[in-house]
Amino acid sequence: MKYKKFTALATAAMLLMTGCSGLPKERDSQTYTDTLFDTVISVQILDSVDEDVLKGCETLCKKYDAMFSRTNEDSEISRINSAGGVPVEVSDETVKLIKKGIYYSELSGGAFDITIAPVVNLWDFQAEDPVPPSPEDAAAAAGHVNYKNIVISDNKVSLSDPEAGIDLGAIAKGYIADRLKDYLEKQGVKHALINLGGNVLALGTKLDGSDYNIGIQKPFDESGNPVTSVRISDQSVVTSGIYQRYFKKDGTIYHHILDPATGYPCKNNLYSVTIITDSSLTADALSTTCFLLGYDRGMKLIDQLDNVDAVFITDDNEIHYSSNFQK
Ligand code: ADP
Ligand code: MG
Repeated sequence: MKYKKFTALATAAMLLMTGCSGLPKERDSQTYTDTLFDTVISVQILDSVDEDVLKGCETLCKKYDAMFSRTNEDSEISRINSAGGVPVEVSDETVKLIKKGIYYSELSGGAFDITIAPVVNLWDFQAEDPVPPSPEDAAAAAGHVNYKNIVISDNKVSLSDPEAGIDLGAIAKGYIADRLKDYLEKQGVKHALINLGGNVLALGTKLDGSDYNIGIQKPFDESGNPVTSVRISDQSVVTSGIYQRYFKKDGTIYHHILDPATGYPCKNNLYSVTIITDSSLTADALSTTCFLLGYDRGMKLIDQLDNVDAVFITDDNEIHYSSNFQK
């Protein structure tokens, strides 16, 4: 059961459209795959590289998992969350990512909130027989969600509400994909595809100079069929959708994008939001933020930003493209 869900999650992530227009046949020695960040990840290098480069990708991913994970008790994030309000000294990178989280929390007026951890802790989407928390418990946890509780002084981070907790789940994979790209570029790699559980970043083009074609999944379609696709090179594509991590109970779908006001899944008419832009961190943060803002406010935000495209799928399975989207 667990395995089945996990597989579904991995395929739900995002589809790389292969076949004649797709990637060259996978060469195992050129691909690093792993299960990290609660999902399946892969880094596929299309140029010929030394084995050490793949090893370097693994080292980098494991370093970030150990820094940012909410469930690893020794991570920098867990140390902040369990410090009972006492300042904890963390790395420059953790400070930087928390600050990014605060930026999107402010931008969304708190619909996105990087201190969602007390609420996230109440939901186990991978349990054998998952149940929603009581509305009272959810509301009590939501009472501790407020990004303004984060106090940063140099590299010391504290939470002014000791019951508060940081969760970087909505932005960490984007940040890590960007760092993998930097690393690969330094190693002389010119063509690669990074896929962290559907958080996709293309380094350059395919070897023949053509774009990558990245499928956007049809919501709730177990076969993983794409409804549409986007062509990218040197860009990232990230989707936040309610079908990625959810359970159904008594006919209701409970998914993993949570409303800081209620402690329950965010309710609106969206199935998914896909963002296409240069930085994977921006794409990851905006996909979750736009989902939480809903269709009207989310699309308005995208149309105000330069160099950012979006594809929203509403619960009538309609596909909506942002104004500047080039089909
Ligand atoms: P994925 O988990 O598939 O990468 P997202 O990037 O959309 O998808 O992030 C969802 C994750 O973000 C959740 O699993 C949780 O860790 C966190 N999260 C849930 N609700 C919120 C919220 N309102 N604000 C910030 N982060 C959230
Ligand atoms: Mg996200």
